[in-house]
Amino acid sequence: MTLRKPCPKGQCRQCWTHAYDPDIHRSQDQRTDCAACVDHMKNGCPSDQIQK
Ligand SMILES: [Zn+2]
Ligand SMILES: [Zn+2]
Repeated sequence: MTLRKPCPKGQCRQCWTHAYDPDIHRSQDQRTDCAACVDHMKNGCPSDQIQK
C-alpha cells in the first residue's frame, strides 16, 4: 500500500491517514462511523498521534 501523501508535521497521523486513504473506511462497516475518527472528533486528537 502506498500512501499518497505523507502526514505533515503537526497533523494527526490517524486523521490524516483516514482522510487520504479511503480504502480504510471502505473496508469497514459502512453503516457505522469509523470509531477512531469519531473518537478524535469528539475528544480531540491525542498528542501521541501528532506527527513530529
Ligand atoms: Zn477513520
Ligand atoms: Zn486525529
